[in-house]
Amino acid sequence: MNTLDVTWADRAGLARLQQDRLATALAAAKRSPFYAGRGVPGSRAELADYPLTTKADLRAGYPFGLLAVDRAELATYHESSGSSGVPTSSYYTPEDWRDLTERYARKHVGIRPDDMFLVRTPYALMITGHLAHAAARYRGATVVPADNRSLAMPYAKVVRLLHDLEVTLTWSLATDTLLWAAAARLAGRAPDRDFPALRALFVGGDPLGPAKKKRIAEIWNAPVVEEYGATETGSLAGECPSGRLHLWADRALFEVYDPDTGRCSPTGRGQLVVTPFQREAMPLLRYNLEDSVEVSDPDCGCGWGLPVVRVLGRSAWTVRDGAAELTQGDVEDLVFGLPAEYGVMFWRARAETDGLRIQIEVAAAHRAAAVRELGDAVDRAYGLPARIESLPPGGLVPERLLTTEPEVVKPRGLFHAGEDWNKALEYY
Ligand SMILES: [Zn+2]
Repeated sequence: MNTLDVTWADRAGLARLQQDRLATALAAAKRSPFYAGRGVPGSRAELADYPLTTKADLRAGYPFGLLAVDRAELATYHESSGSSGVPTSSYYTPEDWRDLTERYARKHVGIRPDDMFLVRTPYALMITGHLAHAAARYRGATVVPADNRSLAMPYAKVVRLLHDLEVTLTWSLATDTLLWAAAARLAGRAPDRDFPALRALFVGGDPLGPAKKKRIAEIWNAPVVEEYGATETGSLAGECPSGRLHLWADRALFEVYDPDTGRCSPTGRGQLVVTPFQREAMPLLRYNLEDSVEVSDPDCGCGWGLPVVRVLGRSAWTVRDGAAELTQGDVEDLVFGLPAEYGVMFWRARAETDGLRIQIEVAAAHRAAAVRELGDAVDRAYGLPARIESLPPGGLVPERLLTTEPEVVKPRGLFHAGEDWNKALEYY
C-alpha cells in the first residue's frame, strides 16, 4: 500500500492531477490574508510570474499572518528549527494532517502493524516527531516516542529500548544512528548483530551522501531509507526501491529557483520552491525553502514518473577555502570514504587561514593510515592543503554522553537535612 494518487509511471495523468489540485490550492490562498493582500493568481500560467514566498515573508507574518481558517479549526501549531535564521510558524488542520500523514507513510519498505517504531526526532514545536508518530499510528504500528531533544532520552536509554523492545523501525537524523552505534558498543553490544529485529532506519533532517548512508547501513546491518521535508511543508520527497529521492509531485508543485538569474525551472540546480496542493490552514504559493538542491527527471529503475531530488544542503553549511567552495556533504563523503575497518564515525572541520582543518575520532591502530588517506583525498578532490588531526575515541563525542542515564526528576519543595536543595525548581 503506497497511497498513490495516480500510477506514478503515468506522467500525463500526473500533469492532469497537478492541474486539478493547483486550482484547489489557489482557491485556498484567497482565504489567506497574506495572499489576499498580494492578489492570488488564477492559473498555472499566472502562478509562473507570481513572486516567491520567502522565509522573511513567513517571519513577518508571525504568528498567524498566513492563517486561512478560523483558529478553532487548527489541529497543531509548529515552528521551524531555525537552523539558518529566526523561527517561522506553520499550522495545520485535521484535513491537512491526513495529507501530511499519508506522505510520510509512503515508505517503500512499508510501515506495518507488527512494527515497533522508535521516533527519535523532536516533538517540541517542530513537526518531524509528530509526523512519524502519526504515520506509524495510521499504519497500525506501535510507537515508541523517543524525542532526541529530551533529557529523558539519553543515548544509553535509546540503545536499551532498541534492544529490549526489539525495535523494527527508527526515525532520526542520520548522525544520531552513529551515536547509537557508539553507545551500543560501549554497552557491550554489536550494532550489526545484537539488534536483529531492525528492518530499516528512516533518516532525514540533514543532507546524507552516499558514502555515509552506505556506512550506516553496514554498521547496523539494515537499510537506510531517506526522507526529505520541512516543518513548513511536511514530507516532500521519499526514497524509491532504487535508492533515489523522488519529489511527491502529486501533492505539490516543485520548481528550482536560480538566485543568480532570478528564474525558476522544473529541473536543474538551485533552491527548491514548493506550492503544496493540500493546505487549508496555511496555503503556500511558490514557497522558497532556500535549500540547495538538484532536481532531475530521469527514467528511474523504480518506474515512478516523479522528479528526483538531490539535497545539497543549506547555504549556511558551505565554506569557502581558497578557490574551493565546500559543503558539509563534500567533506563528509571523503570522511566516510575511508575504509570501514578504520571505524571513523565522528568528525568536524573548519576553514582556517592556513587551509581546511579536519578532526576525526580514530583508534590508535588506524590513526596514521586514516590521517594520511583523508589528507590525500582532500588534496585529490579539491586541491586543498588540509590539516588532519586525529583524536582518540571520546575526543569528539565524550563517553559520558553515551553511557550515562541522567536522573529525571520533578520540581520538589521539601528536602531532608543535608540534601542538595539547589535542584528544587531547576530540576532538569
Ligand atoms: Zn526511483
